[in-house]
Amino acid sequence: MNLFLVLCLVCAQIALSFKLNMVADGRRPLMGGNWKLNPKTTLEATNLATEVAKLTKGVTDVDICIFPPHPFLVPVYTKIEATNVQLGGQNCYFESEGAYTGAVSTCMLRDVGAKYVLCGHSERRSLFKDDDGAINRKVKKVLKEGLTPVLCLGETKEEYEAGLNHEVCAVQVMKDLKDVTPEEMLNVVFAYEPVWAIGTGLVCPATVAQEVHQFIRSLVVKKYGTEIGKKTIIQYGGSVKPDNVKEIMGMPDIDGCLVGGAALNAESFNKIVRFNQ
Ligand code: PEP
Repeated sequence: MNLFLVLCLVCAQIALSFKLNMVADGRRPLMGGNWKLNPKTTLEATNLATEVAKLTKGVTDVDICIFPPHPFLVPVYTKIEATNVQLGGQNCYFESEGAYTGAVSTCMLRDVGAKYVLCGHSERRSLFKDDDGAINRKVKKVLKEGLTPVLCLGETKEEYEAGLNHEVCAVQVMKDLKDVTPEEMLNVVFAYEPVWAIGTGLVCPATVAQEVHQFIRSLVVKKYGTEIGKKTIIQYGGSVKPDNVKEIMGMPDIDGCLVGGAALNAESFNKIVRFNQ
């Protein structure tokens, strides 16, 4: 085989692998592991983080982030700081300091190595009564800190059954992004998580999720313009597993996943991260 042919084959292979792992419009997939109130000990948390980093080593075209509980952020960071796995906080407060017992500031999260912060996860909305006003203040605080908010939104089962998924998402997007500038918007990630699919084993059909993602992107385009809309990462969350991730990620407006249960097992999470292999 002559050198030219070999070069052409190598280039074609590089182009193919690049295309396979990019979602539409050149957006880099982002896979997040939300550990919620797990695991129980520092040792279990650092072991899980070490295993995730080991298994996902060599993945260069998908962004990866894990969201351990706050007490484990520091020990987990020591295990992942030299790897391609990034750190995120599950929540924050919108004030910087002061008499706010139990709160965690964005400055503290940044200081311990976090790059992402979940804002408005449905469990925070329903169990801890985070309303859209508070979520909007958190999103803006995270952005001011130079971190990336992962703004979670989605409808309940009743709202889904009443055909209200678009309406619910539209209200959340409008309220939660109030006064977020176009420049800041470039740093916002969405996670569309239908509440009825979180931790239930019920997966939103990929075509339905795609349709909602497309709708969310259209809201961004309307508010911030086409270029920003095209660049916005919109993750899907809700019972994502190794055996359904490929179909979900095959949808043009789904740019990654926010994973709960399956992220507590390093092998499952690794398979999700490597959805294209
Ligand atoms: C989540 O916690 O955001 C989530 C999507 O959980 P699960 O994957 O377990 O449904």
